[in-house]
Amino acid sequence: MIARLAGLAALSLLLGGCAATPGPADAASRFEVFVLGRAQDGGLPHVGCDRETCCAEARRSGRVETPACLGIHDRETGALALIEATPAVERQLGLLHELADSRPRGRQPVDAVFVTHAHIGHYLGLAHFGREVAATSGLPVHGTPRLLAFLRGHGPWQQLVELGQIELRAVEPSGSVELFGALTVEAIPVPHRDEYSDTVAYRVSGPERTVLFCPDVDAWGRHDGLLDRLLDGVDVAYLDATFYDGRELPERFRAEIPHPTMVDTMARLADRAAARPGSIRFLHLNHTNPAFHRGSIAESVAARGFRIAEVGERVSL
Ligand SMILES: [Zn+2]
Ligand SMILES: [Zn+2]
Repeated sequence: MIARLAGLAALSLLLGGCAATPGPADAASRFEVFVLGRAQDGGLPHVGCDRETCCAEARRSGRVETPACLGIHDRETGALALIEATPAVERQLGLLHELADSRPRGRQPVDAVFVTHAHIGHYLGLAHFGREVAATSGLPVHGTPRLLAFLRGHGPWQQLVELGQIELRAVEPSGSVELFGALTVEAIPVPHRDEYSDTVAYRVSGPERTVLFCPDVDAWGRHDGLLDRLLDGVDVAYLDATFYDGRELPERFRAEIPHPTMVDTMARLADRAAARPGSIRFLHLNHTNPAFHRGSIAESVAARGFRIAEVGERVSL
């Protein structure tokens, strides 16, 4: 694993250095953010996909990509937080502990969790904090009031609340909470299919930098000035890259599952990426997204000043 991560680090350096690429100057910074996963909710390989060019090949080679997730580490106290509890939470916690060089933490594998919305890739992992698995004690789970009402009102999440395994903490849309005494986590509402909850992006600000996590959005244009608002004061932005140019999905699915394409997002943010290469990074890639499978696309994305997030990469806050 260490060798694999060293390889990934070398690869991300090759793909484009930028102000936020870890370097010696970052060593003193108290907080850091890690990318723990970069796929859409179903990961890769994906249930129900036999396509030779994506999931059949991944099954043969043993390649696994887990759903989009960030980890936050306080180097001073060892405290850890997750943004999203994905279906791959066990694997992602293991990676977080390794990257943070964490002490053994037993039944309290993390100190706080933030959830953006109630779609399966973003919160199903909470189940692992319940009775059948870790049985955590009072683990703070942050989300919007509507998301928390959904968890409180439906099994199996309800049981975790009643048994005190998780403790629900509201973050108002457009509001913020303090984390680990020195970080601010702000929830910014974004338009997205909202069957069970509303959806937010999280902006995490430390003493030196601000990172944005916006894995799921239906359209940049639906709320006036949404992209400007999300990116205001942000050093590194992790943005929805579900689809590359929309051709990966048949037309009938595209209407049901709207997302801005990477091509559209790159057109909108071309100036910003040119001025600050590496400041816009893509994650939440669908298993069919060709950027996952063709090196030439990753290279052309990098040539335009953007990046595809690498699992294991870190940004100091
Ligand atoms: Zn998603
Ligand atoms: Zn979603």
